[in-house]
Amino acid sequence: MEKREELYAGKAKSVYTTDDANLLVLVFRNDTSAFDGKRIEQLDRKGAVNNQFNAFIMQKLSAAGIPTHFEKLLSPTEALVKKMEMIPLECVVRNFAAGSLVRRLGVTEGEVLNPPTFELFLKNDALGDPMVNESHAQSFGWATPEQIEKMRTLTFKVNEVLAALFLEGGMLLVDYKLEFGVFNGEIVLGDEFSPDGCRLWDKDTREKLDKDRFRQGLGNVVEAYEEVGRRIGVEFRYE
Ligand code: ADP
Ligand code: UDP
Repeated sequence: MEKREELYAGKAKSVYTTDDANLLVLVFRNDTSAFDGKRIEQLDRKGAVNNQFNAFIMQKLSAAGIPTHFEKLLSPTEALVKKMEMIPLECVVRNFAAGSLVRRLGVTEGEVLNPPTFELFLKNDALGDPMVNESHAQSFGWATPEQIEKMRTLTFKVNEVLAALFLEGGMLLVDYKLEFGVFNGEIVLGDEFSPDGCRLWDKDTREKLDKDRFRQGLGNVVEAYEEVGRRIGVEFRYE
């Protein structure tokens, strides 16, 4: 497999074509962004940590019957994935209130959400990723009702698998964002699952172990990601 030209450089990853038209290489960089890319910093080891964290999670999800784009790790910071037509929506499930939900509805951080909520956001940094609904998705052609239904079902299935996995490691899966794409006509989980795109709190102390450490200037960001990985059994390599 040969890595060819850069197709796209996002805020945290770069995407390369390969000699196989159905496969891409994702390169996880150390860039860490918040507030829709308004704040960007380099954090040592973050690319390697997120790449290997994501590989571990994608393999767990795949074993649980969830179709994912992940093929294999190529190096500490690179992964081979299926090339997909991405759906420009972020699917967010919340088990506890935090972040934008607290800001928008004035509810208390940490409030249990029973049942967990499901929300859609349009992937558009210039607009600050606005919240949208299924009707918008259909009218603007972002996804069909059938695709949304599939994404909702898969996003909740991910919740079952991962809430249990993190709980075993003494953590609460507060919320998370997933992105899906279409491969061979099927909805498949894409992008990444890492502490950059979810909230994880220590079950007992409620210490934040995710990207909120970066957003809120709490320090030890990558150290916290490594701690989460260690608790669920990820073994990191840095070279
Ligand atoms: P952003 O674009 O939000 O800044 P990243 O820096 O993570 O995010 O860039 C990765 C890009 O690659 C995202 O736009 C994501 O939608 C896209 N992507 C992720 N997985 C795949 C895939 N399997 N096929 C095609 N594109 C993908
Ligand atoms: N999230 C993300 N990318 C985004 C927006 C949100 O990965 O562009 C994740 C975020 O890390 C959290 C969940 O989605 O785990 C819900 O985010 P929220 O709507 O609370 O927004 P935030 O407070 O992060 O702006």
